[in-house]
Amino acid sequence: MTRRKHKKKLRAGRFLAFLLACALVILCAYFVIDRLVLAARHHISDAEITLFTPVAEPTQVATIPPIEQESLDEDVVVVQANPMGVPAAVTPTVTPAPQGVQATAEGDGTLRLDRGEKVQLPLTGLIIGIDPGHQLHGNNDQEPVAPGSRETKAKVASGTSGAATGTPEYAVNLDIALKLRDRLEGLGADVIMTRTTNDVDISNIERAQMCNDAGCDIVLRLHCNGSTNAQANGIGLYVTETGSIALPSYQAAELLLPAMAKATGAHPAGIFRRDTYSGLNWSTVPSILVEMGYMSNYDEDLKLEDEAYQELLVDGMARGLAQIFSRSLDGE
Ligand SMILES: [Zn+2]
Repeated sequence: MTRRKHKKKLRAGRFLAFLLACALVILCAYFVIDRLVLAARHHISDAEITLFTPVAEPTQVATIPPIEQESLDEDVVVVQANPMGVPAAVTPTVTPAPQGVQATAEGDGTLRLDRGEKVQLPLTGLIIGIDPGHQLHGNNDQEPVAPGSRETKAKVASGTSGAATGTPEYAVNLDIALKLRDRLEGLGADVIMTRTTNDVDISNIERAQMCNDAGCDIVLRLHCNGSTNAQANGIGLYVTETGSIALPSYQAAELLLPAMAKATGAHPAGIFRRDTYSGLNWSTVPSILVEMGYMSNYDEDLKLEDEAYQELLVDGMARGLAQIFSRSLDGE
């Protein structure tokens, strides 16, 4: 090999090495740029999450809180559709119709099916009065026991209290009355409540007149009984003995009592006809005073304040009312 040839080969070798070095640098640069781009993208998506999460979170977790009993009056449809306070965003505004058909609850107590036709709820068209007996403070002012009567009674008696719990009767009466209202409204009835809180002052005559004026088809006056006999127990119904509502009230009671006894397993103490209750005497619509149980009986007092037992009482009353008006709850 000549010296010139050797130089030429050496130069070619250096050139090749230079090319390899260049290729290596380009490769490295490409790799670095690629990582930078990836990192930049990742950074942006992180930024998106931190930017949008605080905005998105409130709507995702926004819920309709369980509505207080007192506020239910004017918002029946919402209550039916969303009784458990489930997320607002996924709450369907429908209630299941009989036979599992999806349907929308209307304000008039009917269901509108997907096909657009309306179906009646079991108690649609009925106006039912509920008078939760007594109130926070009794009112000893007097009022006539019946229209035209010279005999008077306290406007509102104090009521009894629980032998086991000490709970006042007015509170238990209202608890159960509100549950009954919700159930009846869910079944399509219009419900007239004489009171929805305990701290009121409404006389027995006024309570009767509220239900008369509303044109109630029937009124249930909810009470709990008290007796000096601690063994006394069971459900007793009271209706007037005389007057135009005596017979229809008694006939209704004949259906209500067995329905309540069946639902609760309580002893049906009987149906009693008396003209001694102002609230019944002043009623111009069929009216039944329901003594739901004895708070003077230790065991029955505990039951009367038990949520599950209260629901049984409500179920019995709802079924009894349905029978009274020849309605069926079978498809409920
Ligand atoms: Zn009472």
